[in-house]
This record gives sequence, C-alpha cells and structure tokens, in this order.
Amino acid sequence: MLLVHGGEVAADAPVPRTGGVPLVPEGFAWPLCRECGGAMQFLAHLPLDLGAVAVFLCQNDPGMCDGWDAAGGANRALLFAGPLSPAVVPAEGVALLDAVTALRPHSADERDEESVLGKLGGEPDWWQHDETPACPSCATRMTFTAQLEEGHDHSTAINFGGGGRGYVFHCRPCGEAAFVWQR
Ligand SMILES: [Zn+2]
Ligand SMILES: [Zn+2]
Repeated sequence: MLLVHGGEVAADAPVPRTGGVPLVPEGFAWPLCRECGGAMQFLAHLPLDLGAVAVFLCQNDPGMCDGWDAAGGANRALLFAGPLSPAVVPAEGVALLDAVTALRPHSADERDEESVLGKLGGEPDWWQHDETPACPSCATRMTFTAQLEEGHDHSTAINFGGGGRGYVFHCRPCGEAAFVWQR
C-alpha cells in the first residue's frame, strides 16, 4: 500500500502523517540523541493494527550524529499501544518538522510518482544493501513496517541526506520498533 500526499492536517491528527506532534502514552519521555544529547525531531506518526509507531531522528547538528544507523542512538522508532495523547514538545532542540502532512493510503496500481511519500508493508525498496535490523530485545530479524520519502518541498521535508529514504521495522512479540535511513 502506497502512502501519498494527503494534504495538511492538524498537528495532533490520529492519522498517518509526517510532522506534527507524537501521540504518546502516559509517562512518555521525548527521546534524546545519544550522541549530542539533544531532543530528536519527530518525523512520523504511523497508526497500525498492532499499535502506533512514532519515528524520531536527531536534526540538532545534521550530518554529525549517525542517524542512519538503527543502533547508533541518533534515531528512534517507538511502538505505542493503548490510549495515546499529544506529547509535550521540548522547548530546546529541533523537535518538530515545519509542516504536517497527511499520508493517505493509496493502492499501488494508481501510481502517481510525484505524490508518493512512502508505503506501508510489502518489501523495502533499499537504496543500498539490506539493512534490516535485529530486534534489540530478542535479536530476531525485524519485520518491515513502512517506508518514508523525504517529501518534495525542501523547506518542510524530512532530511534523509537529500533524496534518501527512511525504513521502519517492528518486532510484534517484543513491542519494539526500529528505524534506519539510506541514500
Ligand atoms: Zn544528535
Ligand atoms: Zn523482538
């Protein structure tokens, strides 16, 4: 299933989107980059049948923290279940994208390349070699969940190094999620 540009939505809309604020459970702590210590940027909210995935990537000093690596500590994907509400956004650091964009599910056969912002399920379209991460809890190869494109408007797009792609994975039994990006 492709995800195409679905127009602007509210920052806390409970729909698939890039940007806005994460919807989180009680007790949530905004993820901090292990390399620079700053608040990571919230990239995407992806509601799935197994819960909602929130994707974060450090943008405090772009290119300096190893955000492409699932285990590098400069990105984070979190899988949430149960009641969720909008997170309190940290005052310091580059925590939010400059636009909130709905990701509208779209069948793959009506493809319009211009508006494609990602996909749900299927197989990852790797730019480079397969970097499917191992689950941090059980070490099993994780399941591909979703792919994200940068977006076409450079003033508000996600930064995957200029034309790259992000890949989200999960491990259902452990409730874990992970993220890598490539270009
Ligand atoms: Zn950082
Ligand atoms: Zn696992």
